[in-house]
Amino acid sequence: FQLVFYIYMSSLATVLAPSIIWLVLRRLTDELRAIAARDPLTQLLNRRGLTEALQLYFNSRKAVPAHLLMVDVDHFKRINDTHGHAVGDAVLCHVAQVLRTTVRGGDLTGRVGGEEFVVICLDADAQGVMLLAERLRAAIENQTIPVAGSDHRLHCTITIGVSHPFAGSPGLEGAMREADDALYRGKAAGRNRIEWPQVAHRDPQTQG
Ligand code: GH3
Ligand code: MG
Ligand code: MG
Repeated sequence: FQLVFYIYMSSLATVLAPSIIWLVLRRLTDELRAIAARDPLTQLLNRRGLTEALQLYFNSRKAVPAHLLMVDVDHFKRINDTHGHAVGDAVLCHVAQVLRTTVRGGDLTGRVGGEEFVVICLDADAQGVMLLAERLRAAIENQTIPVAGSDHRLHCTITIGVSHPFAGSPGLEGAMREADDALYRGKAAGRNRIEWPQVAHRDPQTQG
């Protein structure tokens, strides 16, 4: 019996211990990958997370072209300068939350710069994208943001630049440039508005 018990225990030790270590390491790797894909302040996807999610989407056979919205908070520096960086951060979290709760399930939301956000609409036509962009713009304009330790509530607006539809994750950079161009025109035209891409300025990378 002792021999059987000894063989049993030693085989358990040789199989079980490496399996447990492998499982723990795998879990840690998954957690690290998830952390590396997110912006720590808002928990939205960062550029790397957006790229990975797009790769997954475009690898599925039913994928149709995506549209990218570049969302930038208007006069954000003024909010920081007037109320301080912590309140600025709270405004960023508020905008992130509105984006997260307003987009359709399956759309991607990310933060790609200080006060710059990205929404990627998947499975939507131009009409659907237009409606979503207007819903986002109006939601931010119509909601006020509480300021910690004060009765004062803040108000902010966003400008949105839209890209041409693009297919394939390599199209992401081109779509960001197009949406950025449109955003820039929206800022020049007075802010709190949605600007569409110019057909003549189509980025070669978005032509999937
Ligand atoms: P515009 O309407 O043209 O977009 O003007 P703006 O003031 O929003 O744009 P600008 O680029 O001049 O200012 C962005 C500011 O965002 C400057 C920077 O200090 C601030 N910022 C960047 N990252 C963060 C952050 O993580 N938290 C806070 N609170 N502020 C940030
Ligand atoms: Mg701004
Ligand atoms: Mg900006």
